[in-house]
Amino acid sequence: MASPAAAPIATKTHPEAVLAAIRDGSLASWDVEKILSWSLENFHPRIVLSASFGNPEGMVLLDLLQRIEPGVRVFTLDTGRLPQATHDLIDRVRDRYGVAVEVVFPEPADVVRMVRQHGQNLFYESVEKRQLCCRIRKVEPMRRYFETAGIDAWIAGLRREQNVTRSDAAKVEIDEAHGGLVKINPLVDWTHEQVWDYVRAHNVPVNRLHKAGYPSVGCDPCSRAIQPGEDVRAGRWWWENPETKECGIHVEEESHGSGI
Ligand code: SF4
Repeated sequence: MASPAAAPIATKTHPEAVLAAIRDGSLASWDVEKILSWSLENFHPRIVLSASFGNPEGMVLLDLLQRIEPGVRVFTLDTGRLPQATHDLIDRVRDRYGVAVEVVFPEPADVVRMVRQHGQNLFYESVEKRQLCCRIRKVEPMRRYFETAGIDAWIAGLRREQNVTRSDAAKVEIDEAHGGLVKINPLVDWTHEQVWDYVRAHNVPVNRLHKAGYPSVGCDPCSRAIQPGEDVRAGRWWWENPETKECGIHVEEESHGSGI
């Protein structure tokens, strides 16, 4: 099973004051507004928010960032398998905030090769094939975007309680998997309730599928509504164990480039 070769990107260098702040741990106790202000002061316009438009966390961050710096950059991945509701939300955000969302697509030739070899719905067949699809439709496009977007830092909406694979995420860290970019996770210690309290208090636009029982909206064939009492991550890749439930964007893939 061939996978596209990883293109290495140059390791970033950052000001010593930034590295010292990350190393000494002082940022860990800062609240979200202070972290975002620090991030913009140090990196704007060489910083971008990664928003899936399928999770309320990204929309909360977008709203918070707009209050500090309306010119902040936002990007998203269009895998080619997103539901219409997600496309609709991207346009709603354009209208409300005036943000020209940077939409990133997979390499068409990679998708054609994968689908011809493994079929449209390969992700249901094995973890390896699901990871191959995520790599071609998400991880590699993101890597290419990071190579060319002229950024030194990115902001993500990770929260520690989302999944066992995210339990040790730091508020600010060096993202070795993406060439040493600074990765900022301002909501890392927020709870699910805090996120939704902010959405309601500020009338933040969110994906309409949340109202239909989807806590998290990813690609259409890999997302479902959950029942009351189910874990919030149960609606994504529900046929897999929790330990494998990452697309590779937030973890360094051991199998990357291994030709699975
Ligand atoms: S979430 Fe599903 S459809 Fe989307 S890239 Fe991953 S495996 Fe493919």
